[in-house]
Amino acid sequence: MRRSARAEPDQSFSALAFIRAASEAPATPGAYALLIALSHPLEASAGRRAATLAPGLYLYCGSAKGPGGLRARLGRHMRQGKRRRWHIDQLTEAGESLGAWISLEKGECDLVAALSALPVPLEGFGSSDCPRCRSHLLFWPRGDAPAFLAAQKC
Ligand SMILES: [Zn+2]
Repeated sequence: MRRSARAEPDQSFSALAFIRAASEAPATPGAYALLIALSHPLEASAGRRAATLAPGLYLYCGSAKGPGGLRARLGRHMRQGKRRRWHIDQLTEAGESLGAWISLEKGECDLVAALSALPVPLEGFGSSDCPRCRSHLLFWPRGDAPAFLAAQKC
């Protein structure tokens, strides 16, 4: 039986909470690892680079600092039919957003670092202005869950 982890804005997280709907996320700044399922191959691009993303699960690490915080940002990611603005919009429009792990303490690059064992499907994706990460998008092969995700298997 899966116990759903709910985010409480007034509580500090010792582990990352998983939310299935943006309405469960606090409207405060934070970082997230968005879980997206692609059921068909997708031609994706990041600047001049392009790759065909295989069907499967992907994790995209980002942060929300603006008004509405995590709730607003994840709401945008999980909504379809939006105008494309960021690299990740290619995936959220073509695939299905299954939920997100959120953190009020860590930054997006910390999440990428925690997931560094996962393969990078497309260099520079979501990280064009990040000096630290090769990509903010990671491929999540089934059965190969990193430690902090293992407790929250889908
Ligand atoms: Zn980064």
